[in-house]
Amino acid sequence: MMNAVCSFKDLIIDFDLTHPATKSNLDLMLIVRLILLLIVVATLLWLLKRLFSGDPEPEQLDAAKPENMRQCKYCGVHVPESAILVRNDAPYCCQEHADLDQQ
Ligand SMILES: [Zn+2]
Repeated sequence: MMNAVCSFKDLIIDFDLTHPATKSNLDLMLIVRLILLLIVVATLLWLLKRLFSGDPEPEQLDAAKPENMRQCKYCGVHVPESAILVRNDAPYCCQEHADLDQQ
């Protein structure tokens, strides 16, 4: 029984190595695997380069993002939303104008 299995295996190996079509398929597989390996290595190098170069792209995108402007309820000056002072749901450019308007 074992002999039968072994001889069957040998037959397949012999077939794979000697058949011209199978041989060229093996060469093609080798080339495809080399290309895939190159792609994987290139991707890894690109990722490592991105990690260690500080990656300035997201900061540039944040800086380019426009910020909403709001108008001071007291003097009418337009102020970026991050710098606005909100008092009783009304926007103000500074503490002084908020105090003056609330009086
Ligand atoms: Zn103001």
